[in-house]
Amino acid sequence: MTKGSNSMSSDFAKRDGVRSWGRTSNHSQHVARPRFRDELNGLIGDAEASSRLASGLRRSYGDSCLNSDGALIDMRGLDRLIAFDDRTGTLCAEAGASLSQILAFSAPRGWFLPTTPGTRFVTLGGAVANDVHGKNHHAAGSFGRHIESIGLLRSDGARRILSPTAEPDLFAATIGGLGLTGIIEWAELRLERIASAYLDVETIPYRCLAEFWALAEQSAENFEHTVAWIDCVSRGTKFGRGLFSRANWRADDALDAHDDRTWKSIPCDAPVFLLDRLAIAGFNELYYRKSCARRGLRRQHYASYFYPLDALRGWNRLYGRRGMFQYQCVIPRSEAREAIAILLDEITRSGQASFLAVLKTFGELASPGLLSFPRAGVTLALDFPNRGMDTLRLMSRLDAIVEEARGALYPAKDGRMTGKMFRHSFPRWREFVVHRDPAMSSDFWRRVSS
Ligand SMILES: Cc1cc2nc3c(=O)[nH]c(=O)nc-3n(C[C@H](O)[C@H](O)[C@H](O)COP(=O)(O)OP(=O)(O)OC[C@H]3O[C@@H](n4cnc5c(N)ncnc54)[C@H](O)[C@@H]3O)c2cc1C
Repeated sequence: MTKGSNSMSSDFAKRDGVRSWGRTSNHSQHVARPRFRDELNGLIGDAEASSRLASGLRRSYGDSCLNSDGALIDMRGLDRLIAFDDRTGTLCAEAGASLSQILAFSAPRGWFLPTTPGTRFVTLGGAVANDVHGKNHHAAGSFGRHIESIGLLRSDGARRILSPTAEPDLFAATIGGLGLTGIIEWAELRLERIASAYLDVETIPYRCLAEFWALAEQSAENFEHTVAWIDCVSRGTKFGRGLFSRANWRADDALDAHDDRTWKSIPCDAPVFLLDRLAIAGFNELYYRKSCARRGLRRQHYASYFYPLDALRGWNRLYGRRGMFQYQCVIPRSEAREAIAILLDEITRSGQASFLAVLKTFGELASPGLLSFPRAGVTLALDFPNRGMDTLRLMSRLDAIVEEARGALYPAKDGRMTGKMFRHSFPRWREFVVHRDPAMSSDFWRRVSS
């Protein structure tokens, strides 16, 4: 670490090895780590020499949370819970508070997040700025639908309070706005009532995509949470197989919160042979068979159901020193069956997919952000170990299929989409640009807007 350059205030220090979750790039960045909201004006206000970007826990996979030409304002120190109304479940917290912190407070009181991504190590600000989604999208929509108001600091020093009725246009630009409309200082979120910290979870193996579509259709009405693991390696008679999971909250009054001290750590980067095709195929086979044997209904705590990967701290190191790309797209319902089959064919033929692959239907509830990713249809998300040009070429081929099917890519997972693909994915980008704060930028934004 070295002190900041002359063009940057001394509140910023140059730090090496600032990475996002995919670990494909490793730049040094100027980073400030404020502890109090009062400090933010000074940090955003001297942005003439270089741009600023607020960052959270950097669980985004690519470059949307990096700003290597400018500076990052690391919001993790602003993590206070500010107010809670236990009649309505409305919680106000600083943007750096993590979902883990919020749950540790709210779950024992009988309140849960209205929707949650697959890790609890995400900040409130990051969840708003990507308008994240969860396994209950078909029932609850995206995270932004449950935000009552946002405190936003702009680089001109103005503190704006946004809601669906007060400054609705800037509110819509900030939900899913990738940190580009200013710094989210705090947000007010409506939590969901729960009568237990446990769910009844049913796992059902499916042998092909047709069985997946049937299960998804049957389950949407009676299950609050649905998601599927899909085998993206096997071909022939095993093509399109997977495990469908559906769950509802229990009502047994057992309201114990999760414990962040129970995790195990990955001590070093994994060796390359673990990522070769045969090893991954073997792992998929084992996982499928083991899960088939354990099919049926189980009582499961929310931590192991929603956040299985959080039990393994630093699991991204399993992808070795070169890191990994995640690819997540959504395909509109009318095109989904055909396009998902074509995507899966391309992926299985490439032999590049890893074990982690998810298929999930999104419901009809509209997302409130101008750049929100969730929309009615089906989303496929999977990891690719970084094999350089081979992987980039594969993802370009997938882009062409997604574009043809009028689908979209998710910026939170992306580190390489083109400007053309971005504009195709987010047709309201012109409306968004009007609200962008000129002092804010990111590596992602420079790429897609150039
Ligand atoms: C294991 C795993 C599972 C995941 N599962 C899901 C999933 O199921 N659904 C889903 O939607 N996503 C999922 N994600 C992605 C993750 O939820 C998002 O990338 C999330 O936005 C990360 O939040 P963060 O606090 O780490 O923010 P960062 O990654 O640090 O930043 C994300 C964006 O938020 C902006 N930002 C952060 N804080 C502020 C602030 N205070 N003010 C303004 N802008 C801010 C940043 O500028 C950046 O654009 C998953 C990620 C992982 C690692």
